[in-house]
Amino acid sequence: MRYFDYNATAPLSDAAREAWLDAQDACWANPSSPTRAAAQARNLLAACRARLAAIFEVDPKQIVFTSGATEGNNAVIRQGARQAANSAIALSAIEHPSVREPAFQLFGQGRVRPVGVDRHGVLDLEALDKLCAEQKERLALVSVLAANNETGVLQPWAEAIEICRRHRIRFHCDAVQWIGKLPVKGLRDADFVTASGHKFGAPKGVGFIVLSAAQAGFLAQIGGGQENGYRAGTEDVAGIAALVAALEERLHPAGRPSTDSRNAFAETMRSQGAIVLGEAVSRLPNTVALLMPRFDRMRWITRLDRLGFAIGSGSACATGKEGPSATLTAMGVDAEQANRALRVSAGPDASPGDWQALADAFSEVASQLEDDAGEERLTTVIDI
Ligand code: PMP
Repeated sequence: MRYFDYNATAPLSDAAREAWLDAQDACWANPSSPTRAAAQARNLLAACRARLAAIFEVDPKQIVFTSGATEGNNAVIRQGARQAANSAIALSAIEHPSVREPAFQLFGQGRVRPVGVDRHGVLDLEALDKLCAEQKERLALVSVLAANNETGVLQPWAEAIEICRRHRIRFHCDAVQWIGKLPVKGLRDADFVTASGHKFGAPKGVGFIVLSAAQAGFLAQIGGGQENGYRAGTEDVAGIAALVAALEERLHPAGRPSTDSRNAFAETMRSQGAIVLGEAVSRLPNTVALLMPRFDRMRWITRLDRLGFAIGSGSACATGKEGPSATLTAMGVDAEQANRALRVSAGPDASPGDWQALADAFSEVASQLEDDAGEERLTTVIDI
């Protein structure tokens, strides 16, 4: 199978597998126990924390390991809601449900202030600035994702950080789709950064938060006081070791996907009548979000799958859910168009040949679907 659904999840990388097995064999003890075996696990955990902190250029104490980004995002939003009674939260209109849903639940409908995006899917910075100026006293948190999971469109998070800093409002960046694909420099200037290992080659169920130095009262989970008191629960040392190994491998420049083949693929799709979302703006190097000219997205996905190509339908989390995604709606895509939305997201080792093979498979599926439609029309005529 040729896999083009990396924004949903990535396969386990070789570096992650090796680190996971080594840690599982040698460091399986509970890192909080008093034995020598536990000390080994504790040392590995400390080393992993230091390596991850070095990547972000922060103090190891600013790293909090979690079970993934849904947990991280929930914890950050909960922290915001705890700040003050009647406070409000500002969100980009294209946040992942793991930010949007807790925001609505924990702050309440009337205290969530969405900030729109333009038709390319880029956050409206002027609107954010205006909102921050008007609501300064009330805003407990601003949350803007680094790169959108459905379109791959990069968000101006550095400018958003600047705006929030000026207005003295805390800033959260869901950097799940950015980390492992693009350099992380500057992200540490956010108050909270959330990430997930399975998007860049670690096993599922492990992630992290980078806290700014000022977040002493942060509390993700209450219990045994692990993670410097920020997040209780026995750490998954092997998962953490795999996460750090996977991320270090991805930060190596040789591991970055080429945008040339991605762009050539997008151009071919456009010449066949597809709209490439966010085409005019910067996007993740691996992602192409398409509005196909004809046929429901599930028909494309199923046919491509049969030909050996796995692609996505926008957001994996929305598969099977009714209605268009919040992201597409915010970009002005209507419900009928959204039914024809597809997401192609390649891995770091996708070759020009893989992209070309995918373009050829799309052409083949297009002919199949046209033939089917022709036959359906014929059957309808005969029925009449
Ligand atoms: N935020 C974004 C932008 C994502 O793409 C995802 C994964 N689809 C998440 C959060 C949730 O991450 P996890 O799977 O680790 O819970």
